[in-house]
Amino acid sequence: EDTPEDERPGRVVAHFGHRLEVEDEDGKRHLCHLRANLDALVTGDRVSWRPVAEGSGVVEARLERVSTLERPDSRGRLRPVAANIDRIMIVFAAEPEPYPGLIDRYLVAAEATGITPALILNKADLLPEAAGRLHELLAGYQRLGYEIITASVRSTQGLNDLHHSLLDQTAVFVGQSGVGKSSLIDALLPDEQLRVGALSGERGKGTHTTTTARLYQLPAGGQLIDSPGIREFGLGHLDERQVAEGFIEFRPYLGYCRFRDCHHAREPGCALREAVERGEIDAARFESFRHIVNEQALSSR
Ligand code: GDP
Ligand code: ZN
Repeated sequence: EDTPEDERPGRVVAHFGHRLEVEDEDGKRHLCHLRANLDALVTGDRVSWRPVAEGSGVVEARLERVSTLERPDSRGRLRPVAANIDRIMIVFAAEPEPYPGLIDRYLVAAEATGITPALILNKADLLPEAAGRLHELLAGYQRLGYEIITASVRSTQGLNDLHHSLLDQTAVFVGQSGVGKSSLIDALLPDEQLRVGALSGERGKGTHTTTTARLYQLPAGGQLIDSPGIREFGLGHLDERQVAEGFIEFRPYLGYCRFRDCHHAREPGCALREAVERGEIDAARFESFRHIVNEQALSSR
């Protein structure tokens, strides 16, 4: 495909109504307008843009999205809020301790987006109290192949691992309130970037809402996209099949039940339940699955 000579690649790092902040390949930021015939863009979108004056330009095209994070709007319709995310960092902590099934919910929601999740256990400095339970829990997820990072903002344990894990990736941090997402993000980002939201024009003009997502460059490489909405990422509505597929260790068994429309409840010849009985699937994970499916069925009535 031909690109006119003055067009260049960029990435949307923030948007304020119809204006976009686009970062070029040298890390310079430009306030851009959107060509009228383009669909709404979101933070993280890769674009082709053209400079029109010093520090400003026009976005001419959007490149295909590798992934999209969606949230329901006020009418319950799913809307993209950020694009081209590689990792969903699910943060939990010794305090508040995750209730049974909470991590599974986040994992199922992440798996449904096609974006690779990782688990961060924050507040490791507090661990002695909840140690046994949490370590056992973590070991189970590690066996399933999930990346686990143990961290503490207070002791700085694990922050280098986190930087390393996010190299060349675009990540979001999600998790229950109080687990330390803000603290982790503050610890990972150099101060001046947080204080000055990069481009002028954003500040003092009242054109932006604080609820839109912003992309930050991590000092060691990699990007972080953050907004209050993204932090609240959770289970939207998924059908039973999507929920089952969100439990990655169930996948080899799906399609092998005696009944094609098996709900994995009381049906004879259920391949999943047989796998639980043989100890190949963890009973607590299967119970989580049943809980989520029942809840989703209720919510869709
Ligand atoms: P968020 O709601 O997930 O953004 O959580 P915050 O970042 O606001 O943190 C909630 C509380 O946990 C605050 O009082 C933090 O100071 C505290 N906190 C965050 N990280 C740590 C940690 O590693 N260790 C301890 N002990 N407290 C932490
Ligand atoms: Zn079944």
